[in-house]
Amino acid sequence: MTMTSTPACNSSNSNGSERRFCYHCRTHHHATEMRRIVSRNIVRWRCIASIKAARQDAAMREAFGQQTTAANRADSQRRMELINRSRYQREA
Ligand SMILES: [Zn+2]
Repeated sequence: MTMTSTPACNSSNSNGSERRFCYHCRTHHHATEMRRIVSRNIVRWRCIASIKAARQDAAMREAFGQQTTAANRADSQRRMELINRSRYQREA
């Protein structure tokens, strides 16, 4: 006769299976994937994936903005040079 003291049916009821409502996705995620956000004394939960995505999105938008402003500056400079050159050629 063997003594099995640990009940096997209770193993699934751990913290890992806890789910929380994500205010960003408006769905439930695992608690392990969530981060607690406190704003104006209100505690809300948001998933780490959406936080990372938003941060990446902002960084990409910033990089894209810098790229476009640099491109715009180069383009306008080129256009000004062309205008100046054509004007000089016409005058000469
Ligand atoms: Zn989420």
